Amino acid sequence: MNENDGSKRSVATIIDGKAFAANLRGEIARKVEWLKQNHSLIPGLAVVLVGEDPASQVYVRSKGKQTVEAGMNSYEHKLSAETSQADLLKLIDDLNNDPDVHGILVQLPLPKHIDEPMIINSVAAEKDVDGFHLSNVGKLATGAEGIVPCTPLGSLMMLKDHLGELSGKKAIVVGRSNIVGKPMALLLLRESCTVTIAHSRTQDLPGECREADILVAAVGRPEMIKGDWIKPGATVIDVGINRIETEDGGNRLVGDVEFESAAEVAGAITPVPGGVGPMTIACLLHNTLQQACRLNDIAIPD
Ligand code: NDP
Repeated sequence: MNENDGSKRSVATIIDGKAFAANLRGEIARKVEWLKQNHSLIPGLAVVLVGEDPASQVYVRSKGKQTVEAGMNSYEHKLSAETSQADLLKLIDDLNNDPDVHGILVQLPLPKHIDEPMIINSVAAEKDVDGFHLSNVGKLATGAEGIVPCTPLGSLMMLKDHLGELSGKKAIVVGRSNIVGKPMALLLLRESCTVTIAHSRTQDLPGECREADILVAAVGRPEMIKGDWIKPGATVIDVGINRIETEDGGNRLVGDVEFESAAEVAGAITPVPGGVGPMTIACLLHNTLQQACRLNDIAIPD
C-alpha cells in the first residue's frame, strides 16, 4: 500500500507480489503437511535442465529451494547441452511413469538441436505443471479443468485479490505469446471480462490501453507503456522483466510499464521487481500440489 502522502506523487496502490507469494507459499506448505499427515503423500516436482544457460541455472536453483521449503520433494535432472533428444525423451518417459513425481518442468529454452514443442508435449498432460501441453492449452480455451500456466495464474490471483469480482470489466493484454499473453487473455475471458489482445500490429495501442480497467503488459520492451496510456484508476499488472543499463554503468530491472508515470494514474500497479515475478514459482508449487491431489483422487484441501 502506498497512498499519496504529499511527499510522493504516486497515488496507486502498490500490489506487493513478494508478500502475496510468501503468503501463498505458506498456505501451500500447510496443505503439504496436511497431505503428509492424512494421506502419507509428499508432492514431488521434477525439474529438467539441459545445458548451462546461467539464467536457467538460477531459476532451477530457486525452484528447487522453494519446493523443498514448501515440504515437497524436489528432483533435479541436469543434463549436458549435448544431450540427445532420444535421451531427453527417455528421461521424461521415466518421470511420467514415476509415482513419486507429480509435476514435471522442462526448463526452457532448450538447445537448438532439440524439438521444443515435441518435448513439451511428451510430458504427461497431468504432470505438466507449466500448463504448456496442448491438452492443457485446449482445456483452458474450452473452460475444462486442466493446468493453468504459472505466470498468468499468479497475475490473475493478484487481480482477484485486489479487485474482487472481475466480471464485466474491460481488460487489455498487451502481448500474445503462448506462455503469457494468450493464456492471460483466456483466464480474463473465463472471469467474464471483455478482453482485447494487443500485439505488435495493433493500431493506436495507447488509445486501446486507455479504454481498459485492467491492463496486463507482457511485451518484453522496457517501460514501453506510459502513464498517459492508462485509464485513471485502472489496475496494471506488469509481467515484463527487462534488464537495462544505468548511467553509472550498472544495470537494473524494469518492467514493460513506465512505473513512475503509471503510478500517478493507475489505481493499483505491480512493481518490477517484486510484482508478478515471485508469483510464478509460487504458482508452480500450487500446480504441483494440485496435481499430487488430483493424481491420487484426494480433494484439494482448503
Ligand atoms: P514474447 O517475446 O514471446 O512476446 C512478446 C509479445 O509482445 C508478442 O506478442 C509481441 O507481438 C508483443 N509486442 C512486441 N513489441 C510490441 C509493441 N511494440 N507493441 C505491442 N506489442 C508488442 O514475450 P513473453 O510473453 O515470453 O514475455 C513478455 C515479457 O514478460 C518479457 O519481458 C518476459 O521477460 C516477461 N516474463 C516474465 C515472467 C515472470 O515470471 N514475471 C514469465 C515470463 C515472461 P507479436 O506477437 O505481434 O510479435
